[in-house]
Amino acid sequence: MTKPPHQPTDHARTETIRQHILRLLSDTEYSIGELSKSIQQSEKIVLEHLQELQKTGKIQIIPAECLDCGFVFEERNRVKKPGKCPKCKSLRIAEPLYQL
Ligand SMILES: [Zn+2]
Repeated sequence: MTKPPHQPTDHARTETIRQHILRLLSDTEYSIGELSKSIQQSEKIVLEHLQELQKTGKIQIIPAECLDCGFVFEERNRVKKPGKCPKCKSLRIAEPLYQL
């Protein structure tokens, strides 16, 4: 097992990605996967930016929902898609969406 190399933080680049995300979200809501494709960054990077934006109150999350029983994943700090439904154990979970 090797650790991923730590890359130096490039502030200008970070700012650009964040602005790009905000611009996209000002139009319509996106899931992490859609944002990742749109700005051509990994989902991990998109997630980091979304967590920061959520902390500063710039974006809102439409929570993930179980497609089988309708259970809503309300946890505010849970930005990532949950693995399975705690209620019915279904793996069919609608992705959380992000909007301004
Ligand atoms: Zn369920």
